[in-house]
Amino acid sequence: MSFSDLGLAPELLRAIADQGYTDPTPVQAKAIPPILQGQDVMAAAQTGTGKTAGFTLPMLHRLMEFASTSVSPARHPVRALILTPTRELAAQVQDSVKTYGKYIALRSAVVYGGVHIDPQIAELRAGVEILVATPGRLLDHLGQKTVNLSQVQFLVLDEADRMLDMGFLPDIKRILSTLPAKRQSLLFSATYSDEIRGLAKQLLTNPVSIEVSQRNSVVDTVTHLVYKVEAAAKRDLLTHLIKSRDMRQVLVFCNTKIGANRLAYKLDKDGVGAAAIHSDRTQGERMQALAEFKEGKTKVLVATDIAARGLDIEQLPFVVNFDLPGSPEDYVHRIGRTGRAGMTGEAISLMSVEEQEDLAAIEKLLRIKLPVQEPGEFARERVSAPRGGSRRPEGRPERSAEGRPQGPAGRSEPRREDPVRRDEHRSAYSSRAAAPSTDPLFSKPYIPSGAAMETVKPVAPSARGSKKQIAALFLPPAPAEKQDA
Ligand code: AMP
Repeated sequence: MSFSDLGLAPELLRAIADQGYTDPTPVQAKAIPPILQGQDVMAAAQTGTGKTAGFTLPMLHRLMEFASTSVSPARHPVRALILTPTRELAAQVQDSVKTYGKYIALRSAVVYGGVHIDPQIAELRAGVEILVATPGRLLDHLGQKTVNLSQVQFLVLDEADRMLDMGFLPDIKRILSTLPAKRQSLLFSATYSDEIRGLAKQLLTNPVSIEVSQRNSVVDTVTHLVYKVEAAAKRDLLTHLIKSRDMRQVLVFCNTKIGANRLAYKLDKDGVGAAAIHSDRTQGERMQALAEFKEGKTKVLVATDIAARGLDIEQLPFVVNFDLPGSPEDYVHRIGRTGRAGMTGEAISLMSVEEQEDLAAIEKLLRIKLPVQEPGEFARERVSAPRGGSRRPEGRPERSAEGRPQGPAGRSEPRREDPVRRDEHRSAYSSRAAAPSTDPLFSKPYIPSGAAMETVKPVAPSARGSKKQIAALFLPPAPAEKQDA
């Protein structure tokens, strides 16, 4: 199938051709026709599948009738709202809107927290048809009455599972209450939990459900390798791998901001150009770090899960888990940064003995055994390496957009009203060395191709452990002012 078979307007086909794309990706082929027909859509697709164009193209097509070169703000009401969990994703989505909409006289704007609100207000006042926003900042605008959503007819929730993980559900509900009931709504989510299904029920009317085998495509094009290594020797191993293999463009994940900062600093000292990207850095710093990484000025970008969400780096060949994520779904999100749009990629994980349960959880979710490299030549060279290292990486876990501290994998802590969670916290942590999994899956031989993945089911709520792990006890007081991650 080619793009021209989808019934998109010539202006859009021209913009697509400018990008050099000829064929739609699977999610685009499945999502574009029903969206063009005005149907609601619920799509299981993550970053890297081409989902952004999957909703942007038909959205632009449907809004074309409102294209106007008039300077009057009244001629440019907000007609489409796209909500995303992070600033980076919001910025990238708006880039796509501009890219694909470059031959159509529709205006777009992006609003997110962490930057001055005034320029956003000026842009909104001038009138925009397509608004990309993170929930916190959008609520600020609604509160100040600097945006009017009463004419929204097209709503997209992008990375909905992430937004819920980050505690945005109340914000989303408040935003939804300001929208007209009659509208077309789309929900994109990498995973389907009960919460997501609940939200979809409220939001969507007779939705077309779309599943693309994003996990298949990840394993099909991405090679996974796990190095067993002492926690204290991880940095040396990483430096060694990068130097000996002359790796460029390596995205490294740490579970904490301090860990990311420290690793970037030390890698730099080791002669491997590195920068850190996390939510303590200003938007400008994050954008600069990303730009330098994309240009190849820095080889390594050390990121936390929150900061990396939605990052679109073309041809990213390597993703390294310096810390294994405490939530297996984050492994899928992390490695989704490589092997994009059919390219090949490598996912390298550095696993200390304390992280073996995290690996087991990842394997269970993916339904494959990941190849593990035992400490070999490199480890023998380092017999003097100090032993030990803490189970959890240094520093506090990255905070979510709402200022809640997050679990080891950078996910939001449960809300205070969840009394059950305290016991679960204890068991989740104190039983880490509990009996190994008896899942028959693990007695099957390792299948390197995506074949075994064909059977991957949407994640059962019980597999989504991270939300249950941390005691409500540890919640900080509610932040005075909300800031998007
Ligand atoms: P996304 O999942 O929307 O973040 O897109 C992942 C990457 O795939 C982006 O770099 C897009 O520019 C690229 N892409 C989107 N659609 C296509 C297509 N039909 N063919 C090739 N690349 C695409």
